[in-house]
Amino acid sequence: MMSKAIRVYNFSAGPSMLPLEVMELAANQLTNYNDCGMSVMEMSHRSAEFEEILHSAESNLREIMRIPENYKVLFLQGGATLQFSMVPMNLLRKSKKADYIVTGAWAKKAAEEAVKFGEIKVVASSEESNFTYIPEVKREDFTQDADYVHITLNNTIYGTRYPYIPDTGMIPLVGDLSSCILSDEVDVSKFGLIYAGAQKNIGPAGVVIVIIREDLIGFAPESTPIYLDYKIHAKNDSMYNTPPTFGIYMAGEVFKNIKKSGGIAAMEKLNREKAKKLYEYIDESSLYSCPVAKKDRSLMNVVFVTGDEVLDKKFTSEAKVAGLHNLGGHRSIGGMRASIYNAMPMEGVDMLIAFMKKFETENRK
Ligand SMILES: *Cc1c(COP(=O)(O)O)cnc(C)c1O
Repeated sequence: MMSKAIRVYNFSAGPSMLPLEVMELAANQLTNYNDCGMSVMEMSHRSAEFEEILHSAESNLREIMRIPENYKVLFLQGGATLQFSMVPMNLLRKSKKADYIVTGAWAKKAAEEAVKFGEIKVVASSEESNFTYIPEVKREDFTQDADYVHITLNNTIYGTRYPYIPDTGMIPLVGDLSSCILSDEVDVSKFGLIYAGAQKNIGPAGVVIVIIREDLIGFAPESTPIYLDYKIHAKNDSMYNTPPTFGIYMAGEVFKNIKKSGGIAAMEKLNREKAKKLYEYIDESSLYSCPVAKKDRSLMNVVFVTGDEVLDKKFTSEAKVAGLHNLGGHRSIGGMRASIYNAMPMEGVDMLIAFMKKFETENRK
């Protein structure tokens, strides 16, 4: 088996690092799960073994996120991107109006997709300042008869995060939590629907989790393709068709791992410490700067620049040689981005800061 020593610190925004313990367990169980003589990949999704995997994944997720009883948890496919379509298809149920807050590239894509299905209003946007902050919105800013309001809680590319949950009154709030789910405590009851692609903080790509309040299920038009109707998945406990079995197994092991490590409160504490250390160093450094408004900085995706594109490129390539991989910013904005999801240990952040200091000394302007 691959040893710990040759693994690198992987700062990729997603797919990203997973807990080593979980991957070693999966490796041990890969060809023979719990003495049943076959891999999870090979077993029927209707088998007792897999049913147990699915049920325990759901119940552990419910426990760590404290998901209220009146919410369904669905394990689907198609990534967060398919939710950009499924949300409007299912939730534009009365006025066919929805409000979107555009705080980054994913939020913008979500809004653009929704336009195909209804009357979409962008009620606030930070695009004019290159998405470096989160706009403040009040209850009065929303369309009174909107069917829902959509936000992207953590903006993976720009490194921002809502410091508050918008108060939408009676209008259901929909949240894309792809890059912050399980990283800090979130009050699920403030949302009508939460979705998150797995590959940032949950497990391998191929699973998307939808947490939906029951009263929002069952409004998709007759013409909705069957896979795109939440009602079908809710009625069949995510087993209408073959679910992404191995991905669900991995996600379930990550949930157990979080539970064992002290739950989301413990994750949040460590994540706050990691991010604080890194931002403090960036803020005091004379080479690096973070363009994001202090109050809106992400705990998961730390964006920084040297102000010199050539130097930024040199940074990411030398960092890689030092065992610190995938520190380049998103292809649309450049610079650097350190994604420090739950699985990134404090040592990874310490190694990064040590490298940044060394690079700063060597490249002082
Ligand atoms: C990565 C990401 C997406 C896109 O996820 P896919 O699973 O690739 O569709 C959407 N929203 C946010 C916030 C993301 O970080």
